[in-house]
Amino acid sequence: MPLSDFQPVIGLEVHAQLLTHSKIFCGCSTAFGAEPNHHTCPVCLGLPGVLPVLNQRVVEFAVRTGLALECTVKGTSVWSRKNYFYPDLPKGYQITQYDQPICEWGRLVIDTPAGEKVVRVRRIHMEEDAGKSVHDATASAGQSLVDLNRAGVPLLEIVSEPDLRDSDEAVEYLKSLRDVLMYLGVNDGNLEEGSFRCDANVSVMPKGSTVYGQRCELKNLNSFRFLKQAIEYEVARQVDVLESGGKVLQETRLWDVNKGVTRSMRSKEEAHDYRYFPEPDLPPLHVADALIEETRGALPELPRAKRQRFMSQYGLPAYDAKLLTAERPLADFFEACAPHAPDAKKLSNWFLGELSRLLKEEGTTVSSVRFTPTQLGELLGAVEQGTVSINAAKDVLGEMFRTGAAPANIIASKGLAQVSDVGAVEAVVDEVLAKSASEVEKYRAGKKNLYGFFVGQVMKAMKGKGNPTLVNELLKKKLGD
Ligand code: ADP
Ligand code: MG
Ligand code: ZN
Repeated sequence: MPLSDFQPVIGLEVHAQLLTHSKIFCGCSTAFGAEPNHHTCPVCLGLPGVLPVLNQRVVEFAVRTGLALECTVKGTSVWSRKNYFYPDLPKGYQITQYDQPICEWGRLVIDTPAGEKVVRVRRIHMEEDAGKSVHDATASAGQSLVDLNRAGVPLLEIVSEPDLRDSDEAVEYLKSLRDVLMYLGVNDGNLEEGSFRCDANVSVMPKGSTVYGQRCELKNLNSFRFLKQAIEYEVARQVDVLESGGKVLQETRLWDVNKGVTRSMRSKEEAHDYRYFPEPDLPPLHVADALIEETRGALPELPRAKRQRFMSQYGLPAYDAKLLTAERPLADFFEACAPHAPDAKKLSNWFLGELSRLLKEEGTTVSSVRFTPTQLGELLGAVEQGTVSINAAKDVLGEMFRTGAAPANIIASKGLAQVSDVGAVEAVVDEVLAKSASEVEKYRAGKKNLYGFFVGQVMKAMKGKGNPTLVNELLKKKLGD
């Protein structure tokens, strides 16, 4: 059977570092980029005789996330020990949640070419992160170093059902999930730095089958592009294995960025390998109904709801609304500007066009923009009234972006004002037509493609500053059209 006769089946496991100031079971800082092992204490170093104390913020963030993903938040959940040996895990076990996680059975709606699709969220649980092994140049040859600053940083693990059917859906799910977590203020969404990580479980089955195939778990997917490439490679690999009469083995495979392949890392461990048992140092966790209801009431408007509202309130197309609401600061800035702009769709064009280009070029975000919503409104008003051309307005916006100067001042000091005075434009048009008597004659005799020539001459005489609408109006009138 060809590749196209197989149906990929994908489920994602996401680990999101929570934006708390301190770690999950001790008071150490979670700040990124400190000197190795400076954010440590006896608790997160796993020294004997100390006890973990749960950070209440972690629970609040888990509840907030669970509610945003429409999960059932459990009144009681249980901490478990997951035992394994690794140099970056000082206690020899990870405190996590196993058979009784804090949240279960939620959903996330995503966009697909066929329309909206519901992806079920199986569970969300809290756990501590491990440290980091360092194998780079700071280590001597043949040695590895261990940095435990990250040990004990709080994580949410968010596990989807295997509801995704191709690499694009997987990417869309991951993006939507990231948008939601960033809206909630619980995670910074940074795939490259590893504060938002994703493992993909991938299997294939013949199209039309209802029995899932054996799955592989893919790791090292630290960008949306790698997630897509790794899934596509893995689907083709599994189909090849099956087509050549082999069996897909359940294993953990690593995405090799340089070679563009997945390669086997280890056969998949089973739950019993970890000897899970209830954590004796922490009592079961009780979440009060009051906390759940209070959190529900304080949930922000989420990306999809905001998108709907942008469409109805501002009359924007779905495409614009989706891009504008993907990140909360951009959406907020749009809403701050909208009352000052002559037209919401034109404002959206400026946001998604020139402003996005400037932000990308400067490698910055909308929060560091120097101009005010009123000033942007003034600039768009100037375009609308014909005071500046669209091209000149782009230069003005660039200057506003860099300096925060008022658009009127920039237009004046750079001499960017468009000439919209009828008398002034008419004088130039008359002069051009007088100088081009033979072209005018040919034009009137039917050589209509000379029109561009007249426009060009007028614009040249006006150094490009003639209001194009006015120039056209006057030319047509004088030429007798
Ligand atoms: P484990 O705890 O061993 O990692 P789970 O059953 O909890 O296994 O599933 C982990 C992830 O694998 C989930 O995201 C789930 O959706 C996905 N998954 C389970 N079975 C399949 C399958 N046959 N094909 C693809 N993904 C799968
Ligand atoms: Mg798992
Ligand atoms: Zn500590």
